Amino acid sequence: MKWNKAVLSLKPYQPGKSTDEVKRQYGLEKIVKLASNENPFGCSEQVKKSIQEFSNSFAIYPDGYATVLRSAVAKHTGVKETELIFGNGSDENIQIISRSLLGPGKNTVAATGTFSQYRHNATLEGAEVREVPHVDGDHDLDAMLAAIDENTAVVWVCTPNNPTGKYIPEQKLRSFLDQVPEDVLVVLDEAYSEYAVAEDYPRTNHWHNTYKNIIVLRTFSKAYGLASLRVGYGIACEEIIQRLEPSREPFNVNTLGQVAAVAALSDQEFLETCRAENRKGMEQYYQFCEQENVSYYPSQGNFIFLHFEQDADEIFQYLLKRGFIARSGKSFGFPTSLRVTVGSQEENAGMIEAIKGFLRAASEK
Ligand SMILES: *Cc1c(COP(=O)(O)O)cnc(C)c1O
Repeated sequence: MKWNKAVLSLKPYQPGKSTDEVKRQYGLEKIVKLASNENPFGCSEQVKKSIQEFSNSFAIYPDGYATVLRSAVAKHTGVKETELIFGNGSDENIQIISRSLLGPGKNTVAATGTFSQYRHNATLEGAEVREVPHVDGDHDLDAMLAAIDENTAVVWVCTPNNPTGKYIPEQKLRSFLDQVPEDVLVVLDEAYSEYAVAEDYPRTNHWHNTYKNIIVLRTFSKAYGLASLRVGYGIACEEIIQRLEPSREPFNVNTLGQVAAVAALSDQEFLETCRAENRKGMEQYYQFCEQENVSYYPSQGNFIFLHFEQDADEIFQYLLKRGFIARSGKSFGFPTSLRVTVGSQEENAGMIEAIKGFLRAASEK
């Protein structure tokens, strides 16, 4: 076969274990999965209703322009309908951006210790990936600026950052954007922005009016609780949206996803509740960390990054056997850290007890 060179260097995405798989393997009845930053409270009742009431034929292709969803997102964000692009999740928007701008002879700049799909897609397109070492879980924005040259096409910025939970305060982000050359696209991946509560967390809905070279990516997968339906959107100025559109599959966002996302947007009360519950859960983890002297990064997302003295895979396995699924930091380049999604208070209490069990066992060794 005449595979592309880039394809030969890549491995398929390793999904976390499914709850059924773990149940069977360890003979467990109950599993608490806090591994993929999914919303522990599911989604809005409005969403369930909208899907139950859906009566159009499944034989009909989705609306390729996502007309109703487009209008709802435009209203919600205050941007023009022509300043939006929709994807089969943010994952697809990352792919669309990469297909449109990256290729052999070009490079892209991202941080280490961030979402893996930037590197993956850039590599597939044959571009050079310049990974700038993070500083204690933060993007090193000055070093990222320094890594940009005339062949740089895209810079990836994730805030709040997955997996560290760190965010970039407004002034810092502005100062960074002020210095990026105008012909370099900056992607602001804000998959967790709905969870952010810091006063200086930037609200970027209108920043594309000032910075013509940015695109903001949001998703319905996390706070809105629609991960299985695959809907994400990007906000950018019209010129950028128009250039990206040809790389988008014509019917990329499925019909139920569109219907559900509209209903999800209409229930901001649900979102507010999830945001508040998430902060309560975060406090449970903060308290545990203070008590047990576990170091961690303060988080603006719906997950927390905990640092241990042991190999992260060892902790992961210990928890898994007891029915708690977390995510080892190893694949992110943090060999002794663990990413835990903030769940319901009961789930968090269970996870915390399990981690305490691990710490006790480790100290007795
Ligand atoms: C989960 C996640 C995504 C992907 O979201 P989908 O919309 O489900 O594809 C993108 N970026 C970051 C940082 C994420 O954590």
